[in-house]
Amino acid sequence: SMMVERSVRRRRAWRRVVRLLEELEEGCATPVGRLRQVVDAMAVEMHAGLASEGGSKLKMLLTYVHKLPTGKERGTYYALHLGGTNSRVLRVQLGGQRSTIIGRDLDRQPIPQNLMTSTSEELFDFVATLLKDFVEREEKGSITTQQESRELGFTFSFPVKQTSSSSGNLIKWTKGFSVEDMVGRDVSECLQQAISRKGLDMRVAVLVNDTVGTLALGHYDDEDTVAAVIFGTGTNACYLERADAIIKCQGLLTTSGGMVVNMEWGNFWSSHLPRTSYDIDLDADSPNPNDQGFEKMISGMYLGDIVRRVILQMSQESDVFGPVSSKLHVPFILRTHLMAAMHEDDSPNLTEVARVLKDTLEIPDVPFSVRRLVVNICDVVTRRAARLAAAGIVGILKKIGRDGSGGIAGGKTKVGSKNKMMRRTVVAVEGGLYTDYTMFREYLNEAMEEILGEDVAPYVVIKMTKDGSGIGAALLAASHSASSTG
Ligand code: BGC
Ligand code: MG
Repeated sequence: SMMVERSVRRRRAWRRVVRLLEELEEGCATPVGRLRQVVDAMAVEMHAGLASEGGSKLKMLLTYVHKLPTGKERGTYYALHLGGTNSRVLRVQLGGQRSTIIGRDLDRQPIPQNLMTSTSEELFDFVATLLKDFVEREEKGSITTQQESRELGFTFSFPVKQTSSSSGNLIKWTKGFSVEDMVGRDVSECLQQAISRKGLDMRVAVLVNDTVGTLALGHYDDEDTVAAVIFGTGTNACYLERADAIIKCQGLLTTSGGMVVNMEWGNFWSSHLPRTSYDIDLDADSPNPNDQGFEKMISGMYLGDIVRRVILQMSQESDVFGPVSSKLHVPFILRTHLMAAMHEDDSPNLTEVARVLKDTLEIPDVPFSVRRLVVNICDVVTRRAARLAAAGIVGILKKIGRDGSGGIAGGKTKVGSKNKMMRRTVVAVEGGLYTDYTMFREYLNEAMEEILGEDVAPYVVIKMTKDGSGIGAALLAASHSASSTG
């Protein structure tokens, strides 16, 4: 009869979908053994990237930041952060004593979509206007006898080949940006010109990546901080490296100390990374194919889109989602915060999942089993991302001898039965994917423990900073300016 036929068809469709989920799980598998291979690959690529220019997909960019803020900085500094999604302006008042950031005022604006693909002049006029409006608002009514030009820390969250701590040329765009006339040009100069066009008296004192700002604030708050990682729209890491380990610029570095290296780990690649057909398609459809492979598996810009692709495939191969919704064909329509909302839906009927499916993807009325399925997809995709991210962090620790696998000179504490020395090591972390997506955060921390083992894991602390990418840039502006005692 028809009813029997329909139930046979339904069961067949469900089996197909379950098979696709299983394939996804297998394709995204990250057993600890594989994570260790990623750790090793990361450390190896770091060496290669430091050895010669173009020696690795990891650019390992010099920052010319030798000294991190000490806490003695004083004065008022501005910071401007151009991120992947938002632009922020801050003013930081430093009191000359650790932890006395007297004031931190902030203005945050989403960057209009059209500016991400326009001209450099339009983009920088937009941020310079934000800056000018903010300065006027902040300084209104205050009787300032301003003798010197205002000092600005500029956080630019894209790969830059620095020529000094306050200048550098854009190597390429990442995330959603593609302002072609900017590539190769000096980022600080573009901003400085826009600032002048607005008639604002302000000097770009430092140009930093967002990871470097985060490291600066992390280190300011806790001196054991040696690395910083961003999990936002994009992903990246920086860390403090010994000058003599930066082989590619021997002779260029006059300091005997160290330098912060911007890894640009979003571009990391290794054959050990678990890649699925969805990742391959996402990459091929992206404006930067073969680029930012690690980022495309991990960061906030992409996770929701991987999920969309899985749902699309399931919808095309079965009818469990009803007729294929045209919304499923729209790239990036399923934003990662919506994915997180579905993943973390703890209502008994998964009403949040149903709401996102209906409102965003125009897939109405799916039964509970299908809502559950969607939660599973989100879980697989986020778990893989978080575990790979953890492996990346341990890779850095391994490179600098802080993963517990080798003896550490100057160590204070004996760790475990292996009788190795281990120092407390702090990694500063920032970005909405980590701060706002609990499951991502928990999976990451869980994987850190798995990889490091119970003897070493307690010595490694992942610490969230707040607005470090901006405040850190202001701190660096202070420590790099003549008028500060830093
Ligand atoms: C950029 C990095 C940045 C990271 C996090 C990546 O796409 O290439 O420079 O640090 O996003 O914002
Ligand atoms: Mg960002």
